[in-house]
Amino acid sequence: MEKLILIKYGELTTKKGNRSVFIRLLVKNINALLKGMDYHIKYDRVRMYIESSNIDVITEKLKNVFGIHSIVNCYKVNTNVEEITSSVVDILKNISFKTFKIDTNRADKSFPIPSMEFSRMIGGAVLKNIPSKVDVHHPDLLVKIEIRSDATYIYTDEIKGLGGYPVGIQGTGLLMLSGGIDSPVAGYLALKRGIDLECLYFESPPHTSVEAKNKVIKLASIINSYSGNIKVNVVPFTKLQEAIYKNVPDSYIITIMRRMMYRIAERVVLKKHLKVIVNGESVGQVASQTLTSMMVINNVTNLPVIRPVACLDKLEIIDIAKKINTYETSILPYEDCCTIFLPKHPVINPVLEKCLEYEQTFDYETLIQECVDNIEVISNFEEKKSDLL
Ligand code: ATP
Ligand code: MG
Repeated sequence: MEKLILIKYGELTTKKGNRSVFIRLLVKNINALLKGMDYHIKYDRVRMYIESSNIDVITEKLKNVFGIHSIVNCYKVNTNVEEITSSVVDILKNISFKTFKIDTNRADKSFPIPSMEFSRMIGGAVLKNIPSKVDVHHPDLLVKIEIRSDATYIYTDEIKGLGGYPVGIQGTGLLMLSGGIDSPVAGYLALKRGIDLECLYFESPPHTSVEAKNKVIKLASIINSYSGNIKVNVVPFTKLQEAIYKNVPDSYIITIMRRMMYRIAERVVLKKHLKVIVNGESVGQVASQTLTSMMVINNVTNLPVIRPVACLDKLEIIDIAKKINTYETSILPYEDCCTIFLPKHPVINPVLEKCLEYEQTFDYETLIQECVDNIEVISNFEEKKSDLL
């Protein structure tokens, strides 16, 4: 009796036409995740199986993979009545339970015994060998037997996977990643829909510190555990930000600054052949996230902007941040370029014409280009670990 991992696919099984593309990408993502380990993958349109001497470690890793509905540690036996019966009894002898139910799925219809009858047969053998009772409604232990043409799989425990789509199936987006709570959660949710990510971080040294930057890199490294491909593009924003402070009336500083951020994000998306901008804006959260502000700020780009947390409450966002382990890092008190020189009364309903008028007063084009040309790309999170917080 061989122990292995069985993977049930997530939502991707509903995508009939694209199914094989989805599954192949899932396999590729899993291969990247398990690189260097000793294992063997086999898959078809319904299931994936991973054989390895390291099942526990691999099971842990698979819990971070999008596109998986469930992860099952199961036993593989030959499709032979005696072997299945004795295996079920042996497996159950090592588990403590009072009541059980056998659930047979006869995927291989050439197997001669119908599912219900087979479940009853196996149940009888269990009752004979282990003091227990059958409870078909609320059993302590549900024993699943899947009879397939190649073999039969027996399992009692199913670990819920993350669901979603395999990361990258939608291409790659550019996540505007600040050190706050919202944007890492937005990144996680985008990854869940199959959007792989690069990150864009605006830093304004010396107004923002190296700790603030390391915090962002740390956040990127946490969400990278769901991708493996994430890089952080660090934009030197100081000169442009200082020009905004010098030339724009206080109440419009944040609006104009965010228009500049979007302009830079758009250029990076186009330069790197990415597809969308992703950010952590949430409707109504701050002055720059009223619908009017969003309209005026978004006006600088035609790219789609995905805002995964747009309609979540802060508490809902915090719940996810805690679940994905970004919260503790996000609440570290380092300043962001959005919070330095924060005006007392940022405009809530900005007017587009005013933005255009203020922007005409300085040569932002050159400054934007300088920002784009001097981006620092960081990807080797593992090596940087000791510097991070
Ligand atoms: P977060 O939204 O990440 O919790 P925040 O609420 O302090 O941080 P906001 O001022 O609400 O940030 O900014 C809204 C969004 O703009 C952020 O979620 C993020 O996507 C983007 N953003 C803000 N500051 C930066 C930055 N320094 N670099 C990159 N993106 C940023
Ligand atoms: Mg926010």
